[in-house]
Parts: sequence; structure tokens; C-alpha cells
Amino acid sequence: MNIQPATALLPYNTFGIEVRADHFAEVLTVHDLHDVLKSGIRPVLILGGGSNLLFTSDVPGLVVKNSIRGIRVARTFKNKVWVEAGGGEVWHDFVLWTVQNDFGGAQNLSLIPGTVGAAPVQNIGAYGVELKDLFVSLRAVDMETGRIRQFSKKECRFGYRDSFFKREGKNRYCIFSVTFSLTRSNHRINVSYGDIRKTLEVNGIDQPSIADVSRAIIQIRSSKLPDPARIGNCGSFFKNPEVPKFVLENIQKTRPEAPFYNIGDGARVKIPAGWLIEQCGWKGKRVGNTGCYERQALVLVNYGGATGEEVKNLAFAIIDSVEKEFGIRLEPEVNII
Ligand SMILES: Cc1cc2nc3c(=O)[nH]c(=O)nc-3n(C[C@H](O)[C@H](O)[C@H](O)COP(=O)(O)OP(=O)(O)OC[C@H]3O[C@@H](n4cnc5c(N)ncnc54)[C@H](O)[C@@H]3O)c2cc1C
Repeated sequence: MNIQPATALLPYNTFGIEVRADHFAEVLTVHDLHDVLKSGIRPVLILGGGSNLLFTSDVPGLVVKNSIRGIRVARTFKNKVWVEAGGGEVWHDFVLWTVQNDFGGAQNLSLIPGTVGAAPVQNIGAYGVELKDLFVSLRAVDMETGRIRQFSKKECRFGYRDSFFKREGKNRYCIFSVTFSLTRSNHRINVSYGDIRKTLEVNGIDQPSIADVSRAIIQIRSSKLPDPARIGNCGSFFKNPEVPKFVLENIQKTRPEAPFYNIGDGARVKIPAGWLIEQCGWKGKRVGNTGCYERQALVLVNYGGATGEEVKNLAFAIIDSVEKEFGIRLEPEVNII
């Protein structure tokens, strides 16, 4: 197994931050992964598409790029299938594969960057669907013992942009395969979020297939989110805060238009972080080589040559100003390394 010393990570992170890994290896199989672990180089950082992390300095130890591929139907039932995908598969390619095979469930998660193996880490979600909605189980290598362990849905402890792997299991496991449950017929078409219905109408579609929904979402996302190939970013930098309803009611005294979503029984609400940031005047603001994207305040961007520290400082300036204005402390969604 080829372990390279002093490797530039610029091509491996969508923020476009220039840092180096002390050591770097790309693994194509579980066997390769066991081999690199035998090198004894520690700590180990598992890297997928680098679309949800911010490097703030050179990375010590070993960075392992997961390129373990493969998609197969693991089990067929009357109305559903279980599909197992390699952790190094590109997430969007996997979604397109499901749509081409007319397997329903993943279409609302079209065009999310990154890999299949990283998707459970923060329980990716978009347009009313989260990874946990189609998740069956995953297999991972325990990087301390080298043992393979299977995790059930319960063991993954999925939450909003959260899981066991973002907390207690952080940096301990390398997820090399994920199994999903997808429908073969009577697909659940969910078009109630964002502009999906409007986009379908504009496209002249009133009985959408899963392929139509996927295409509409690709269209919407491409128009709203900056393409990391053109401008460095990691999508939403912050989570939408969940707060008790009285916090919202206080805000509504001066800003009655404050947007929110009820959670559960309505005692708590989710307030869009982008709106809070915009109210503090950050939207479109540039600070040095970094800034807050002009079309979506939730996205921080690298205009070119930004360091991870610069982006992190901007993120914390935003967190402090939102807390000062609203008493709500935003939490980063992006992994700061
Ligand atoms: C333009 C843009 C739009 C986005 N939109 C969304 C969105 O709508 N919804 C959403 O949820 N996210 C979104 N994201 C964030 C990102 O796409 C997801 O979090 C994605 O799952 C990250 O995958 P990755 O392979 O790039 O992970 P990386 O950034 O490489 O890694 C993220 C974290 O997971 C760990 N990790 C990676 N692979 C593994 C593995 N195989 N096993 C164990 N740990 C691992 C890493 O160590 C790191 O801590 C967006 C990002 C961008 C750039």
C-alpha cells in the first residue's frame, strides 16, 4: 500500500484550503484500509469528498481517502430492495443510479456533494428527506482494533445533521459500506419542500416520477448554491438552531415576519440560521479572502487564497453577532479540523 509523505490537500477539500497531510493514502478496498492501519501512523483522519470539513492547519498523522466503490442489490422484496453501496461511491452518482433503476427514496437527496460513507456521519438531509429515512445498516472498520463492525439504525443514533459518528464514534470508524431500503413501486413522491412543486409546474409536470423530482432538485440546487468547482465552500456552514417557542416569540415582538418551523408538539421551533445571519447584516459581506455568500447567508465562501483560520474567524464572528442580537448561539455544521 502506497503511503505518500507531505501531500497537498488542496484537491481534496471543496473549501479549497491549502494545507498538507503528514501522510496520505487512498484506499480502494477494505484490505487496503487494514494495510494502511498496520503502518501504525496515527492519528488517522478519514476523508471522503472533503465537502464538509474546514482545514485550519496542516494535518498530522495519516489522511486516508476512502475510494471503496461498488453498488449492488443486496436483497429484493415484493415492493422494496435493499441496496448496498461502497463508502467511497460519490453520493450523487449513487442517487442517479437509484433513479435510473427506478428505486425510490433517495431522489430528494440529489446533488448533495460527498461520498456514501460520509452521508451517515451527519445524517445528510435536504428537501424533507434525511439519510435515516432510507437507512438499513452500515459496516465500518474500527480503526483501533481493525475489526469490522455492523451498525443498525438505532446504533447510529441519527439526529438533525448528527449521529454517533459525529460524537462518541468520531475518527474511530471508517464506514466502508452502507445499505439502503428503496421502494420498487408506489414511490413516495415528496414535493412539498422548497420550490420543488413550483419548478415542476414550470417544467409542465403534474404527475412527477422520481426522475422528474431528481431533475427539479438538481435544477433548484444548481441555481441557489455556489458550485465548489468555481468558488470554494462547504454548503451550509451552520445548523438551523432549535429553540423553545418563547425565544421565537421574543424575536417576533420586533420582527413579526421571523420564519420558523414547528418541531414535534410545537413546544420547540427551528429558526433558519440563514435568516438570523442576514438580519445581522452578514449576507454578501466579504472579509479578506472569505465571506458570506450573496445568495445564501448560510454559506461561507473562499474567494481564493483564504486560509482555514480566516474562514473560522469569520464563522465565529457571525456566531457572536447572532448571539448578541438574538441570544441564540449557532452551531457549525461543518467539521473544523
Ligand atoms: C455545495 C454544497 C452543498 C451541500 N448541501 C448539503 C445538503 O443539502 N445537505 C447536507 O446534509 N449536506 C450538504 N452539504 C455537506 C456535505 O455535502 C455532506 O456533509 C457530505 O455528506 C460530506 O461528504 P464528504 O464525503 O465530502 O465528507 P468529508 O467532508 O470528506 O468528511 C466529513 C466528515 O465525515 C468524516 N468521514 C468522511 N468519510 C467517512 C467514512 N467513510 N467513515 C467515517 N467517517 C467519515 C470525516 O472525517 C469528516 O469528519 C453540502 C456541501 C456543499 C459543498
